Amino acid sequence: MAKHRLSKSTYIRSLQCQKSLYLHTKRPFLRDKISAEQLAKFRRGTDVGVLARELFPGGIDMTPKSPSAYIAKKDETLKLVNTKNINVLYEAVFEYDEVLIMLDILVRDGNGWKAIEVKSSRKLSTTYYNDAALQYYVLKGNNLTINSFKLIHINEDYVFDGTLRLEELFTLVEVMPKLEQMLPSTATSIATAKQTLDLDKSPDIPPGMHCFTPYPCDFLGHCWKNIPTGNLLQMRSINPEAASAFFANGRFLPEEILNEPIYNSIDQGELQAFKEHRLTTSAALPEALRKTLNRSDNQLFIKLLSLQPAVPFIVGFRPYQAVPIALSWSNGTKGSRVFEPDATGVEQARSLLNELFENNNLIITDDADTLLSFYFANPDTSHQSPITNHQSLILGIRQIVQSSPLYHPDFGRDCAFENIVRALTGKSISSEHWLRHDLQAAETEAQRHKVMAKLEQYPEVLSIITGEIRSLLLPV
Ligand code: SF4
Repeated sequence: MAKHRLSKSTYIRSLQCQKSLYLHTKRPFLRDKISAEQLAKFRRGTDVGVLARELFPGGIDMTPKSPSAYIAKKDETLKLVNTKNINVLYEAVFEYDEVLIMLDILVRDGNGWKAIEVKSSRKLSTTYYNDAALQYYVLKGNNLTINSFKLIHINEDYVFDGTLRLEELFTLVEVMPKLEQMLPSTATSIATAKQTLDLDKSPDIPPGMHCFTPYPCDFLGHCWKNIPTGNLLQMRSINPEAASAFFANGRFLPEEILNEPIYNSIDQGELQAFKEHRLTTSAALPEALRKTLNRSDNQLFIKLLSLQPAVPFIVGFRPYQAVPIALSWSNGTKGSRVFEPDATGVEQARSLLNELFENNNLIITDDADTLLSFYFANPDTSHQSPITNHQSLILGIRQIVQSSPLYHPDFGRDCAFENIVRALTGKSISSEHWLRHDLQAAETEAQRHKVMAKLEQYPEVLSIITGEIRSLLLPV
């Protein structure tokens, strides 16, 4: 039997960009290296999927051990669904219309079946519906009677009380009526993807915003190598769809659209930043932020390194709530400390933060959301700033940059903290992902010391960046 031509991942890839599907299948050597962050996300998805199986226990795991085992597993799946006493299958393998799928959980339901797909995120996205629609299409093609199709995702309001309650951790959403409606468009998208696979050269698709959504494409290095820096898609004040449309006809830079009406709507500050390659601003700062930045007494620069587990394991914690594993700070005096990711570590981190917050009334960090997500167990209060019980304010550099008319061509559209650091200090800092990885892997004091030395660079760069922002926004 001919090998399948599409899978769930290649289908989703085709919806993002047909060129990406073509390159992935026919020119895989052009692919960028997959980032460690992306790999960690994939692993998290798998772990949550395996945990969710416990909601439907006693199933047979059909996961093929290697790509060559797919056909055997597909035949075995078909045999098992026709076997009376087999009620639950995990990763059941089906093929139809040259599309191969592995369904997370399949549960017998009277004369039919319930299909379940598990997502490790807190919300359902369009991509998840597209993915489920493909699975539904293939299941129907196999003449299975599907009584229900549910998507499972993480319930962000769940609080761990010492016993993991899967029925509360997971939210099940019935999506079959929507998938039924999506059947015709799914069939069309499959046909389009197959036409792409029949091409003998890569489709001519120019780069655009679609290279980043819903996932950063792994052919950016190949497709973007001739796109000039300082381009329209790096600008925050132009609509990304409009910028993509200019990309499509070969216009990448602001000076190439001088005569277009949209040019006048681009923030003048951002245009100046791109022209002069420096930090600029275009408008008066919101009064509250100006006042806050004016407070340069008792300021604390701080970096919290944390785990953000999908499944909480500390009493009182919610999914993805930050669990501290290290802290570095500077408030005239420098300090850093490592914590075990357990209840004792949490208490130690909280009391250290209490002490630091008590003595400093302006707290500057890279990403305020992480610090607040740990410090306030209750998400209803987690976005409050100032921290009223301490008469202090927490400011996140990312949040300041994103919410102010503050521009630098190297910030990038998403204003990643690493980009801000490079743009304003000329330095490179170790990414949070690697610090977390290396700290957890450290076996000796010397290895731990090395990681902490890198973490201690954060308060230092936070101080420089704050100085840069102050000198621009608060001229003397
Ligand atoms: S980088 Fe962009 S244009 Fe190139 S394959 Fe990926 S999504 Fe398509």
